[in-house]
Amino acid sequence: MNRPWRTEEPEGDGAGPTLDPSDWDRTRALAHRMIDDAFDDLRTVRDRPVWTKMPDEVAATFEGPAPRTPLGAEAAYAAFRERVVPYRMGNDHPRFWAYYMGSGTVIGALAEFLAAIDASNLGGTEIGAARVERQVLDWCKEMIGLPKSASGVMTSGASVANLIGAAVARHAHVPDVRVQGIEGLREPLVAYASGEVHSCHARSLELMGHGSRALHPVATDEAFRIDVAALRRAVAHDRAAGRRPWLVVATAGTVNTGAFDDLHAVADLCAEEGLWFHVDAAIGAPYGLSARLRPKIAGIERADSVALDLHKGLHAPFEAGAVLVRDEVAHREAFSVMPPYLARSGRGLAGRSTWLSEYGPQLTRGFKALKVWMGFLAYGTDGFARVLERNADQARHLAARVDASPVLERVAPVEADIVCLRVLPEGADRDAIDAANRTLVDELQEEGDFVPSGTTLRGRPCIRVALCNHRTRPDDLDRFVTRLERAAAPAPS
Ligand SMILES: *Cc1c(COP(=O)(O)O)cnc(C)c1O
Repeated sequence: MNRPWRTEEPEGDGAGPTLDPSDWDRTRALAHRMIDDAFDDLRTVRDRPVWTKMPDEVAATFEGPAPRTPLGAEAAYAAFRERVVPYRMGNDHPRFWAYYMGSGTVIGALAEFLAAIDASNLGGTEIGAARVERQVLDWCKEMIGLPKSASGVMTSGASVANLIGAAVARHAHVPDVRVQGIEGLREPLVAYASGEVHSCHARSLELMGHGSRALHPVATDEAFRIDVAALRRAVAHDRAAGRRPWLVVATAGTVNTGAFDDLHAVADLCAEEGLWFHVDAAIGAPYGLSARLRPKIAGIERADSVALDLHKGLHAPFEAGAVLVRDEVAHREAFSVMPPYLARSGRGLAGRSTWLSEYGPQLTRGFKALKVWMGFLAYGTDGFARVLERNADQARHLAARVDASPVLERVAPVEADIVCLRVLPEGADRDAIDAANRTLVDELQEEGDFVPSGTTLRGRPCIRVALCNHRTRPDDLDRFVTRLERAAAPAPS
């Protein structure tokens, strides 16, 4: 068998086992084929189903141990093409509107390869890759109006960015918490967010040892924004009951409906009450790049900390998020550890005085920044702004089509790019309408033509269309409306 990897026998040059190719030209040809196949797939993405369920026979091939003897790179690639490629998520498809996910980009995908070849560990140190991450973080600060003196670190996504923000906020309120833990707390800590807040925040408080009940859900108004008067009452009530309010999480773009909390009002309240003001801007942060959409996130520049996702509105391939903290010292003090083997001398590879690993829980860190940095260079902030605005226009177009249809109803205001709707089958009562909307989401996904997701708003199941997709065209949405209207038509008897 011809094995391109020489992991077994040392060759004539005495190099011994290595994981490098033994035949570089053959491996180069394979790499070119991978690129050609990937480009062909992406150019013709419209022609395939959005999603295909993996058949049981294929699923069965994922059982079994790792091969002992090398199969070679060609075989590894063939396995990927046959057993993985046909069953991808579909978020690169123009008619994928589930959850809220970026579509990826070609430049981002190529950058992922280059980042791996660069192979740097972004824990810190004096390397080009760390400069790239610091510049991406600076660009994120500019995007939302935080000062350059703010600190930041890239994360896997907004879940971890929000966790880091909460941990910094807690440390700022309880400086000995790193040593004493939460057992040293005299009063229970309480955080606040609207009932529409992302589920990751409750999990942060679970992980931090407070339990999810330490996150008090605050009522929302008719547009699903946090009710700031209710928030004020909750803070007063908790103080009177001997609890210690410390953190408010406002959301710039909720995952259910795309609602934007009134950030100025929350900032004012946090300033009056001495609370940490954290903004979950996983969805909304990129709006800072568009003059038209920026007013939606007004007040974000007053945040103590902000969580961003760069794999949503900026379409970087997964994973790419970031957390920014106004007070660099507060950020570093919440996470920095300095074992002797990481000591810095002020020169050489370990020369930098602060490392990126001091701003979060990870030591070894990948070069996530490159795909974002090259995206910014390739498309410019204007390129991203145009795509975000186009999705917002498409959401308005879809909302208008829904509003004009006698068998569809819209169930939330369209603030930006998320549309929540229900089909109203003729003659159905409330329960039958609920059931129809629940099953229709599954049916659509299995058909593979359109992939929205479902959610429940004020107790009613509905269909949620998140237009975070730079490949969607208006006619995709028109065809979708036709399909929904067909679902609402009486079944042929
Ligand atoms: C997506 C999202 C998150 C979670 O982000 P991940 O990147 O999936 O970790 C948190 N908050 C909001 C508002 C989101 O939309």
